Amino acid sequence: MKAPQRYTVTAALPYANGPVHIGHLAGCYLPADTYVRFLRLIGKDVLFICGSDEHGVPITLKARDLGISPQDVVDTYHKLMGDAFVDMGISFDVYSRTSSAIHHETAQEFFLNLYNTGEFTEQVTEQFFDEQEQTFLADRYIIGTCPNCGNDNAYGDQCEKCGKSLSPSDLINPRSKLSGNAPVKKSTKHWFLPLDKYQDEWINDWMLTQKDKWRSNVYGQCKSWLDQGLQPRAITRDLDWGVKVPLQGEEGKVLYVWFDAPIGYISASREWSEKTGKDWKPYWQDEHSQLVHFIGKDNIVFHCIIFPAILKAHGDYILPDQVPANEFLNLEGEKISTSRNWAVWLHEYLEDFPNRRDELRYVLTSIAPETKDSDFSWKDYQTRVNSELADILGNFVNRVMVLTHKYFEGKVPTSEFNPSAEVEDAATRIFERVPDMILGYEFRAGLIETIGLARAGNKYLADAQPWKLNLEADREEVEKIIAYSLDIVSRLSVALSPYLPDTSARLRKMLNLPAAFVWNDLLVSHLPQGHAIGLPEILFKKIEDDQIDAQLLKLEASKAAQPVQVKAHAPVKSSISYDDFMKMDIRVGTILEAVKVPKADKLLQLLVDTGVDKRTVVSGIAEHFKPEDIIGQQVSLLLNLEPRKIKGIESQGMILMAEDADGKLKFVQPGEVVNPGAEIR
Ligand code: ZN
Repeated sequence: MKAPQRYTVTAALPYANGPVHIGHLAGCYLPADTYVRFLRLIGKDVLFICGSDEHGVPITLKARDLGISPQDVVDTYHKLMGDAFVDMGISFDVYSRTSSAIHHETAQEFFLNLYNTGEFTEQVTEQFFDEQEQTFLADRYIIGTCPNCGNDNAYGDQCEKCGKSLSPSDLINPRSKLSGNAPVKKSTKHWFLPLDKYQDEWINDWMLTQKDKWRSNVYGQCKSWLDQGLQPRAITRDLDWGVKVPLQGEEGKVLYVWFDAPIGYISASREWSEKTGKDWKPYWQDEHSQLVHFIGKDNIVFHCIIFPAILKAHGDYILPDQVPANEFLNLEGEKISTSRNWAVWLHEYLEDFPNRRDELRYVLTSIAPETKDSDFSWKDYQTRVNSELADILGNFVNRVMVLTHKYFEGKVPTSEFNPSAEVEDAATRIFERVPDMILGYEFRAGLIETIGLARAGNKYLADAQPWKLNLEADREEVEKIIAYSLDIVSRLSVALSPYLPDTSARLRKMLNLPAAFVWNDLLVSHLPQGHAIGLPEILFKKIEDDQIDAQLLKLEASKAAQPVQVKAHAPVKSSISYDDFMKMDIRVGTILEAVKVPKADKLLQLLVDTGVDKRTVVSGIAEHFKPEDIIGQQVSLLLNLEPRKIKGIESQGMILMAEDADGKLKFVQPGEVVNPGAEIR
């Protein structure tokens, strides 16, 4: 197949409710940027699109928590993220945002187009409604007890403790996050995209044609969705933050964020078009254009099924050709988490490591989670930068530059080479294999080949040891070694450019070569005899231990700060009388025995000395404590709770627990040991 000439490359629009971290970069923005830089290098016409995803419930929740408006939230993060991408050198043609007028207009046009051609089905369903606040409640606004694990603060869409996907009606004792009251059901009308119908009409067939083309993780996820059978999907919500449903008499309804956000790619293209005067349409409507979506794995179904369904229903758009989705990047062995502040934030990295963008690009590409989750650790970062970039690439370039100045007054001494087989082999491999790797989304593999040339060059120079030769007697030999080494540096400036653009630019400058070049320049020598090169610069300074220690300390600090990072705090319960309070008989007890309840992962059977008696209590704490560790501990016990049979054992009372922000349970204990039976009032 002939490679297309025009590419439309998108990188997932990040939610404007937190800064960009290295996981985002490694998963999506960095591979996309490398890909785009390569396409430009081989002369393709590329439109590279991104922007902020500014709608959706998490943003309204964040605004509520902070006591500011959703617009304030997205303004802050849109600026922070946009600046961080620029500072990192991610070469978007446009970085737009979904709160812009042009986006609202584009998304509404899509909705109306589909509405008018009768694509949507309408359904009236019962949704939870907060009577006090007079508003429908999005899934995230409903909290209750998880039917799976008993977590009292599970959300209406998911329990963050056990990870189970939920729907609000699964929750036991649901309550509104807004008022704390139990919500009521109220009927409301919404519009649905008939994915079930599309599945039979074309999605099944179309997906089959992607089978050998898409990454297996991507195709596999789609296949399992299709195997389960697609369901009609609501594309509107009762919410007041988002793109308004453009119909008369439908106030209070907005487009579902996953309907409007991907349309944001098109809005961004239109914005680019207005700025540059170029036509955006061929990038989206010419069937010879190739549409590529870079995303993380949590976005697969939206980009591979739902957005294509929207494009197809509209009728005049192309569908994605490729959806390279990465797995996740962990940090020091743990899942990156915005809410727990367990992340390396891009804007902070750029501050802490000025002029070291390529170091981060290099490491993140080397460990890119292309086929499975991978891990970033600061020690590994240091090792890779120091022993690969500094000791190999940097060392080689520096030696050649310094020697050229020392021996030949900074001029290319000859046009004759004495080529090394190893170096030529490395260069040939790059020229022949790297294009397929990059165009096949195997960025890690491509980087390994590319750095192979630096490795071969470094070895060549170290073996040739021109500094040991006699400049008088072996002058010709020394000239050839230096000239050839300079030529390798020139080839590196081309080969490295998609991966390490700053390094490439610095090499060009050091060699005094034009800043603009093309991929085929890899094959051509541009350093005629007598060409004056520029001054040497140190390419990569070593990363010192104290820099790494500082980063590790920072991470430790965010761990320590966790408890005050309150997660969705439970609303305050309604008042009770003093008499109600006095009805509870709470006392200090001492745990005498503890054993696991057979066939129950979560339960411990305890024998507690309550001062008045010794009684059995069954407690759901087995995941938090080992039986042997808690014998002898003092706990608070609600003594007069009605006895209850749990797994056939009668439980006579309840141990009071405090739940930490990370979900861990702790005993509520007296500050010092007291007599069992001491009353708690
Ligand atoms: Zn749960």
